[in-house]
Amino acid sequence: MVLAPRRAAPPGVKGISLFIVPKFRVNDDGRLGERNDVQLAGVNHKLGQRGIVNTFLKFGERGECFAELVGQPHQGLAQMFHMMNEARIGVGLGAIMLGTAGYRYSLQYARERKQGRHPDQKDPASPPVAIIEHADVRRMLLQQKSYTEGALGLAMYAAQRVDVQAQDPDPARRREAHLLLELLTPVIKAWSADWCLKANDLAIQVLGGYGYTREYPVEQHWRDNRLNPIHEGANGIQGLDLLGRKVMMDGGAAFKLLLREIAATASAAGSVPALTEHAIALSHCAATVAKTTAVLGAAMARGEVRLALSNASRYLGLVGHLAIAWSWLRQALVAAKATPATAADADFYAGKLAACRYFFVHELPVTELDAQLLCALDATVLDTRPESL
Ligand SMILES: Cc1cc2nc3c(=O)[nH]c(=O)nc-3n(C[C@H](O)[C@H](O)[C@H](O)COP(=O)(O)OP(=O)(O)OC[C@H]3O[C@@H](n4cnc5c(N)ncnc54)[C@H](O)[C@@H]3O)c2cc1C
Repeated sequence: MVLAPRRAAPPGVKGISLFIVPKFRVNDDGRLGERNDVQLAGVNHKLGQRGIVNTFLKFGERGECFAELVGQPHQGLAQMFHMMNEARIGVGLGAIMLGTAGYRYSLQYARERKQGRHPDQKDPASPPVAIIEHADVRRMLLQQKSYTEGALGLAMYAAQRVDVQAQDPDPARRREAHLLLELLTPVIKAWSADWCLKANDLAIQVLGGYGYTREYPVEQHWRDNRLNPIHEGANGIQGLDLLGRKVMMDGGAAFKLLLREIAATASAAGSVPALTEHAIALSHCAATVAKTTAVLGAAMARGEVRLALSNASRYLGLVGHLAIAWSWLRQALVAAKATPATAADADFYAGKLAACRYFFVHELPVTELDAQLLCALDATVLDTRPESL
């Protein structure tokens, strides 16, 4: 399938149509005819994702490329979006899977690799400890866990919304699921791609020098994941989509719905003593994001669109952190109330609570700085002239 403008089409994306470009033409009698005028110009040599061939095609070099129009003319972009939302959630999930693979690998390595001693152990004859004993290594593992499992929780929530949107007998619930998906899709795509790539970077760091070699898989995870912030709409475009369209659509209906869902989780967690502190932090962050969104919305309404959108990537990071904190509190609610049947279960739930705490205490506070810059309509980036770079 190929998106292309027909002759005399309206300019820009409004003139794009969807085509099927066959490799061979089909004769009137139904048999395969001559080859169509579409050529393989080369194979792209990629940083990662080397198990999949990526090609550079040339259409109509001889002016004889035949294509079949799919649907109506000029509807190409709308047709593409039938697959695009699902593909974007798929990209987010792919990023999460690669991030998780790196986390699991580096976790196992950290349990096995012995190196160094505790900082208060001065006896040079004492045996080295497994590197997971070092707080800084546990920090890198907690970071990976909080990014990958936090993002997975959000992606699973979105997957549930897909089911509700398709199957719920109540039209109001189907509509709400649709709105939430519209809003969360750019976040799941871009936040997961950015932060699960960061998780892969940390997995390499946990392995030290070995992480940088091809003897171990963590460098491949990073290379493979590096595609995800780029394709199916680069992350910068996801930020523009989120701020320029999704949070503002239908008078902010989707955004209000998300805030309502977050408030419900915060309320439930507020009555669980171990989670009260996080519930307050989540409510505070949600209020900060709401205020920031209102400031940016007002700027766009008075025509300062370019300024308001100049920090859209930072805005996506802000909403993403809020959504991941929410995802963690949802998981922590289950973990805090669970009655573990085995020691392994107890470790599992304790790990969930630790990663939740890590995300709230070490990661979420960055949203304050994000909100401050966004509310100030900081023009540092916009005002930097291309010539100065
Ligand atoms: C391995 C691989 C496989 C692919 N497979 C397919 C495929 O099967 N089918 C297909 O159709 N495509 C495919 N692509 C293409 C892919 O979707 C694009 O590379 C991607 O959408 C980014 O577009 P671009 O490369 O044209 O970058 P550009 O659009 O040139 O973007 C470059 C940079 O500029 C930024 N930028 C661009 N426009 C704006 C703007 N308006 N405002 C702010 N920032 C902007 C982007 O965020 C990005 O950081 C593939 C790409 C790769 C690498």
